[in-house]
Amino acid sequence: MRPFWPTGRRGQQIFLMKRHSSSLASLVRWLDEIGRMTDEPGRLTRTFLSPAMRRANTRVGQWMRAAGLTVREDAVGNLIGRLESTAPGAKTLLLGSHLDTVRDAGRFDGALGVLLPIAALAELKRRGAALPFAVEVLGFSEEEGVRFASAYLGSKGYAGKLRAADLKFRDTKGVSVGDALRMLGKGKFSIPAAAHRSRALIGYLEVHIEQGPVLEAKKLSVGVVSAIAGQTRGRLTFTGKAGHAGTTPMNLRRDALTGAAELVLFAETLARGCEPLVATVGTVAVSPGAPNVIPGEVTLSLDVRHPHDASRRAALKLLLDVAKKIGRQRKLAVAWQATQDNGAVACSPELTARLEESVRTVQRRSLALVSGAGHDAVVISSLTPVAMLFVRCREGLSHHPDEFASSADLDVALRVVVDFLTRLAANTTS
Ligand SMILES: [Zn+2]
Repeated sequence: MRPFWPTGRRGQQIFLMKRHSSSLASLVRWLDEIGRMTDEPGRLTRTFLSPAMRRANTRVGQWMRAAGLTVREDAVGNLIGRLESTAPGAKTLLLGSHLDTVRDAGRFDGALGVLLPIAALAELKRRGAALPFAVEVLGFSEEEGVRFASAYLGSKGYAGKLRAADLKFRDTKGVSVGDALRMLGKGKFSIPAAAHRSRALIGYLEVHIEQGPVLEAKKLSVGVVSAIAGQTRGRLTFTGKAGHAGTTPMNLRRDALTGAAELVLFAETLARGCEPLVATVGTVAVSPGAPNVIPGEVTLSLDVRHPHDASRRAALKLLLDVAKKIGRQRKLAVAWQATQDNGAVACSPELTARLEESVRTVQRRSLALVSGAGHDAVVISSLTPVAMLFVRCREGLSHHPDEFASSADLDVALRVVVDFLTRLAANTTS
């Protein structure tokens, strides 16, 4: 096994920088090519096990092979590129993200986290550096929940977390997840066990665009995720009494909408004062919904997120208590129905500290960020410790065709991952 290169020698660093640019050029070219693989002409849409997904797996598999990886697909359509290590007792480091997209998507969400690790490994191969651990680059087949309205099918399959209930979801054509997977397996499918035993793994690193505006505001190319926020979603209903808008005096009204409005404003005030809490009312349904009728019933959606579960629960309790208080004052009935409740995921302190070191080396300054959005790392955290690197995207825009990360920022992210692998290797051999 060849040792890692010294990093303190100026001449060699310059040499490496020059070589680095060809990996960056490959990454940019790959993102471009994969960004044109779509199921819908004129816009990027690539869903679970679709023809475009099949083409994407084939093409990304070719790039993996060229970087020295052996390639396979598992029973749920995940693309897995593996680089073995000759080191005795070598554990495996996982790197990856998802290859499916939302409808009318951008080119970077998901694909970046699959393609950048391949470029990093290609770079190490060019340098002739062997790693003292095996690496698996994972292109998860499903994360966005577009086809079956159920997210994380790919990473759940890989982590051994797929359940019989997951196979029952149906797409708009009536095809179930189980049917689709049996088609993929040419008639055969059984729920896979976890791809690895936890102790055989070092951890999981996911590179992803930020999908938010913080890095742009801080003028930084990349940041390190400290935790993925937990989230509670539900429906809050205020019920009063509908009545004539012209004949009912103001003091005799039981207006459900004015009560709901108080709660909406309270949610904003609360979250503004309790960073990093975020609270959002995204939908409001007013009944009966006529200009000359006092609103009798209002149902609003409430989405509450925080990196600490106890703080999220406390915020939710306060919001519901205030809703009830508003209800008492305004003679409205208040009902809450939770529809989703996911705990927060803390990133691994060890992997994150190492990633921060690499970020400081490449970018001088490291910034810790909380991910408000869910990622494959949420599911993989049940298998092994996780870390995440966020890359700045223009105006924080994502899930949109104008989603954009600059080549300069991709270069920084690529250097960080190469440095991270290098440091991890140096630490593993010492
Ligand atoms: Zn994503």
